[in-house]
Amino acid sequence: MQARRPTRPIYVGNEKTGIVQVGGGLPDSRGRKTTPAPVSVQTMTAGYTHDVDKCVAEIHKLHAAGADVVRVAVPEKKDTEALKEILNQTSVPIVADVHFHFKRALEAVEAGIHKIRLNPGNINDRDQVNAVIDACKERGIPIRVGVNEGSIIERRDKRKRMEELGRYFSDHKHGHLLAIMIAKLEEYLDIFHERDFHDVVISAKSMDPTLVIDAYTEISRRWDYPLHLGVTHAGPKETGTIRSVVALGTLLANGIGDTVRISYASDPVFEVEDAIEMLCCLGLRERVGAELIACPTCGRIQVDLFSLVDEVRKILSKDIDLPMKVAVMGCVVNGPGEAEGADVAVFAGDRRGIIYVQGERVATVPEEEILERLLAECRAFQDKVRRGEARLGEKNVAIIPPDPIGDLGSGMELIKQGRVQTLTVGRTT
Ligand code: SF4
Repeated sequence: MQARRPTRPIYVGNEKTGIVQVGGGLPDSRGRKTTPAPVSVQTMTAGYTHDVDKCVAEIHKLHAAGADVVRVAVPEKKDTEALKEILNQTSVPIVADVHFHFKRALEAVEAGIHKIRLNPGNINDRDQVNAVIDACKERGIPIRVGVNEGSIIERRDKRKRMEELGRYFSDHKHGHLLAIMIAKLEEYLDIFHERDFHDVVISAKSMDPTLVIDAYTEISRRWDYPLHLGVTHAGPKETGTIRSVVALGTLLANGIGDTVRISYASDPVFEVEDAIEMLCCLGLRERVGAELIACPTCGRIQVDLFSLVDEVRKILSKDIDLPMKVAVMGCVVNGPGEAEGADVAVFAGDRRGIIYVQGERVATVPEEEILERLLAECRAFQDKVRRGEARLGEKNVAIIPPDPIGDLGSGMELIKQGRVQTLTVGRTT
């Protein structure tokens, strides 16, 4: 992991919502010293903004899922007219996503919005951009300049622009697109610089993760504004998550990126959950709640592990607040080694499971009782930690694999084949 790239910070929100700092490490626009803020997570509502009740309910849901900032689309005047009431009823910083009509930005500012997103691909009249900058400057509202590969390319003169800029970045896979994105940002940011406006965040999204990595890497070398990372139009959840995490994870590991939005065609609550999991995996956020370790299963499996893991995951997310490690392993052959760091673990066998708490075997139960007993042990262990009688990650006794014949009745084939050396190294209780 590379150290975070220092940027000028921006601040989103107010006393009521709490202020989310994005970026940092360089002096802010008032010349104050800053340190980098944790990488924040944002997402966007999927419903109509003018449907106030539904929009507010969706914002509450996304905030509860862990979104630090929520964006809403304001394509029509009736959407900006709804903002005042939405802001009254919510307590998370809200961003107005503005395309095509600069007046929507002015109306959103008037309503008290906490941040504006402008698209240089469709609001580029200098006077209109200046009007938005002036309104935001007066109220201390930051602006995201968000170029999207799909909307910045001037379709009418695409060929001409590609010829003009084709020599730049010619060694990159998408050199001409990268050149157009950077050129567009340079032109657009000049307007902001002329107005001495620096409460700016930049994004440069594409559906191609390699272009996203190249674009943000190049931008991070040219400007010291914080970066909002995202892959756009990433597709359905299954592939969209991977596209997003490949690009955003690579950039974050290189120290690039200050706020993230994972986006795909599904419920935005999942986007928030995936973004938080990505940050936890990269060590950029403290985990809240249990971390589930599970084996992928193989030909040695003798219980319905997928259903078990699914159930365990659902209940742990509700019942466990402490970042304990819980392992659900399909057998005793590799399970104990893989689950070594777990606080609570189960190793399944022939329709049975052996449960350990911090390395100590506490029970052997039939398959149908594994879920209930494992969760009971997790809850009891959480209570013990809360009472100060145990500490997370402190394994008292090494996890000893049970006898694959005597305890679980599995592994006979492996033993016959000579692939398991140690037969009896533990006893059931
Ligand atoms: S723990 Fe056992 S069942 Fe699961 S993948 Fe490893 S060897 Fe296969």
